Amino acid sequence: MTDLHRLSIRELSEGLAGSKFSSRELTEHYLKRIAKIDAQVQSYVTVTPEQALAQADAADALRQSGMANVLTGVPVAHKDIFCTHGIKTTAGSKMLDNFISPYDATVVAKGKVAGLVTLGKVNMDEFAMGSTSESSYFGATKNPWALDHVPGGSSGGSAAAVAADLAPFATGTDTGGSIRQPASFCGLTGLKPTYGRVSRFGMIAYASSLDQGGPMARSAEDCAYLMNGMAGHDDRDSTSVNKDVDDYVANLNGTSVKGLRIGIPKQYFNVAGLDADVKARVEESLKKLEEMGATLVEIDLNMTDAYVPTYYLIAPAEASSNLQRFDGVRYGYRCENPVDLTDLYKRSRSEGFGPEVQRRILIGTYALSAGYYDAYYVKAQKVRRLIQQDFLKAFESVDVIAAPSAPTTAYKIGASLDPVEMYLGDIYTIAVNLAGLPAINAPVGFDKDQLPVGLQLIGNYWSESQLLSVVHQYQQATDWHTKRAAIAEETV
Ligand code: GLN
Repeated sequence: MTDLHRLSIRELSEGLAGSKFSSRELTEHYLKRIAKIDAQVQSYVTVTPEQALAQADAADALRQSGMANVLTGVPVAHKDIFCTHGIKTTAGSKMLDNFISPYDATVVAKGKVAGLVTLGKVNMDEFAMGSTSESSYFGATKNPWALDHVPGGSSGGSAAAVAADLAPFATGTDTGGSIRQPASFCGLTGLKPTYGRVSRFGMIAYASSLDQGGPMARSAEDCAYLMNGMAGHDDRDSTSVNKDVDDYVANLNGTSVKGLRIGIPKQYFNVAGLDADVKARVEESLKKLEEMGATLVEIDLNMTDAYVPTYYLIAPAEASSNLQRFDGVRYGYRCENPVDLTDLYKRSRSEGFGPEVQRRILIGTYALSAGYYDAYYVKAQKVRRLIQQDFLKAFESVDVIAAPSAPTTAYKIGASLDPVEMYLGDIYTIAVNLAGLPAINAPVGFDKDQLPVGLQLIGNYWSESQLLSVVHQYQQATDWHTKRAAIAEETV
């Protein structure tokens, strides 16, 4: 079969179960596509054909013996922030260019138990800091819809791989939008779960109180399958919550759009820099949901102006602490011929980290330093609480909140955004992480340059099933999620 990459996860699962094709054939098909097409997209940092084919053969054997799971033999790409036993894990950094993890992240281990076949590790902004994937030490990933544009970030490799049909779905992480924004830029569905739903064990930390892993795929249905394989309590992550996990696939039709109250934050649609096409497509998608029976309710989120400054204090503060361990001694790159210990620390860190990571370490260290801690970090934490309360108040009168995922579509590669400009682009995603809420991106059309636009729906705590269900029903009634970039149409 030459069109295996066109099949949804449900179709792949059914095809494997009905012996229409084997996991080996499916895996070989994806590996061939990667070998032919990825030179243009550069979504993978590491491709692992031997391991993948061995896993595929094991999956086929399991199927023969009648012991297979729903996902047994389905390929996946992992963001290069998840530790993978025996396979290089770089976090997009020179610092970890030669790091081979001695263990699997829980998300990777759970994927193996579910029977997933790992195709390889996909590119990302260095240590997940960025919105374009250009800060990767391994070079910029390209947006499959327009190769001179970025795929978004930081999970840009995950998004580009799926959008170019170089993986059926992929894992991502979202500290301040890194699942939703690249999903938006690449025309995909991506879910950022409630903080604590997916284990952070073995996921290289950026800002620990904000980081959360989640699925990126072509549809809500595909995301639900991967979410079933990722979510759950983990003793090895103290912030992982011990709460029953939904069956996200079984719940795909569980929420009625009829009567659903969708909050429209006044402040969000008046943001300076909100592109007219993005606004129009998002409004059209809301109109469609209204036709399907939802009610649109105008709401206030008064803390909107505080999102960017609060996030860009807390995230760098936590990053500066988390990244201390990369010192050339305990972890990571070590400089050549240090003259003494101070020189070793200084040069290892300034040669090993790129400019954006260094910028954040400096800001974070400053904010946490004695004398400034109360004025910056403690104050930001207080504002963070107010942002959370703003959302909780809104959820007293609405079921979900709608927003764009990003104010614009994908930027041109090298558009040389200054850092603050780039930070402002995170306005719609970062408050969700500060509050620990779940949110989803769904593709809802294109701008005048044929670049994808995304709608974001934000839910209350533990409403992943509801978010997936609403988007699933929207996707049953529309076909934006079925559109493919020209490069994905290439056959092998
Ligand atoms: N763009 C945001 C940042 O640079 C989000 C990153 C993320 O979610 N990992 O911090």
